[in-house]
Amino acid sequence: MKKGLIKAAAIAAVSVMAVSALTGCGKSDKLVMGTNAAFPPFEFTTSEGLVGEFDGIDVAIANNIAKSMDKELEVADMEFDGLIAAVSTGKVDMVAAGMTANDERRQSVDFSDTYFTASQVMVVAPDNADITTAEDLKNDKTVGVVLGYTGDSIVTDNLQLAEDKIVRANRGLDIVQDVKNGKLDAVVIDSATGKALAENNGLKVIEDAEAFEAEEYAIAVKKGNTELLEKINTVLAEMKANGEIDALAVQYNQ
Ligand code: GLN
Repeated sequence: MKKGLIKAAAIAAVSVMAVSALTGCGKSDKLVMGTNAAFPPFEFTTSEGLVGEFDGIDVAIANNIAKSMDKELEVADMEFDGLIAAVSTGKVDMVAAGMTANDERRQSVDFSDTYFTASQVMVVAPDNADITTAEDLKNDKTVGVVLGYTGDSIVTDNLQLAEDKIVRANRGLDIVQDVKNGKLDAVVIDSATGKALAENNGLKVIEDAEAFEAEEYAIAVKKGNTELLEKINTVLAEMKANGEIDALAVQYNQ
């Protein structure tokens, strides 16, 4: 290579590096989704997932968002409780985790348009006759929730259960097992996930529309990242209009 060319190539390489640094550590060809992959049917792991071992409604939606940006989707699996910090600090580009958009979280992140309505439910043993409403949980019941989920704030702040009656875990999958083996009387968890986990484990789902308000899921981005937010909203609008989100809900619930 001639000297001039080498110089030009060096300058080009440096500018590519500079651009990569600006756009975030050279992963500009990837869209990184933060999630907690223990929340079927929205995110779970399986031997042949849609993206590596990861699959679910959120993974499918995020994959479409990545495609619309000509990027490859990368899934960063972490504890639910760490997701807001991960997106705020730029460790991930967005959070797609069946995350309920609420005012508390809005202080730290920006949310996309909503794409799914849920509410909390109680998962109990099939022969449990003592728990028919959320109020019944106050009768000395031991209740499992996932740390940092809306279910956690409901049993802690709304129902005000005694601290020694609340068991907080990192994975809904694990506490549902504890209902099965009798260690817990109930798990309070999101409806679609509660139904999926109850079905897989021969447990019963109890709803209480009065105690558990509707919750809307949305995708979170770093505050002020309107560029990505607009792209996400465009894809969500398309997927709502053409029925794809409804189809995913049916597909993954079977
Ligand atoms: N929707 C609940 C929340 O936002 C649970 C989400 C989840 O477990 N992934 O807290």
